[in-house]
Amino acid sequence: MSTPPVAVVTGASSGIGAATARALASAGFHVVLGARRVDRCAEIAKEIDGTAVRLDVTDAESVAAFAAAVPECRLLVNNAGGAKGFEPVAEADEEDWRWMFETNVIGTLRVTKALLPALLASGDGHIVTVTSIAALEPYDNGAGYTGAKHAQAMLHRTLRGELLGQPVRLTEILPGMVETDFSLVRFGGDQARADEVYRGITPLTADDVADVIAFAATRPSHVNLDQIVLKPRAQATPMRAYREPS
Ligand code: NAP
Repeated sequence: MSTPPVAVVTGASSGIGAATARALASAGFHVVLGARRVDRCAEIAKEIDGTAVRLDVTDAESVAAFAAAVPECRLLVNNAGGAKGFEPVAEADEEDWRWMFETNVIGTLRVTKALLPALLASGDGHIVTVTSIAALEPYDNGAGYTGAKHAQAMLHRTLRGELLGQPVRLTEILPGMVETDFSLVRFGGDQARADEVYRGITPLTADDVADVIAFAATRPSHVNLDQIVLKPRAQATPMRAYREPS
């Protein structure tokens, strides 16, 4: 029996990352799950016969130790990230901005650099980066997040050119509204405010996004799905959606 290809999912302790770990295991990958809440990763790893390794993408030493634990890697899903705060630029909180840029941008850079040698050595590597529709346009009160997601997207899209001729595919996933802990984290644990984001709408689920990632990852090696934008039917842009009256 041949050994299954290895997929790394960052931010696999909840939401899109956890669902992606499950979907990739079903598609035949051995999944390495990384996040700070490694206990949650370990529970999912047990369920899917994967491996959990602690990972803080904002800490260079943690990323180095993580990469050392993953000598082989065919697929990297850069998913760890999120938003903090929802203020106009005039009232922007520098700490929130630093968190968003450290996690979404520098974190993606660190993990990608650390695993690129293994992805190249696999002879058939693939980097999937979960950006957002926030990487397509600005919206009011969102400059810290849209700025970070644009920067993360530029990193990813630049690699698409720089790696031409090398055996690595690059896929950017740009989801609209997905119901996860995303809004709870953004609003500092305020559940009522987080619930309001999804009021009157059927949002995407983490499984919806995971399905698309697994589809991209299981195309033949010569097929590169460059960018996939997915949104709930009721959402047109980050701030324009139809809500059923309550
Ligand atoms: P989520 O449930 O809050 O998941 C975020 C994940 O990122 C968690 O597993 C968290 O794990 C991990 N993470 C955060 N900081 C980290 C760090 N320093 N090191 C390692 N892992 C870290 O939210 P989600 O919606 O699934 O978000 C996943 C990705 O999708 C994010 O990049 C987000 O920006 C993007 N996205 C979400 C939506 C949406 O509407 N939900 C839409 C578009 C794009 P730990 O806390 O355990 O470290």
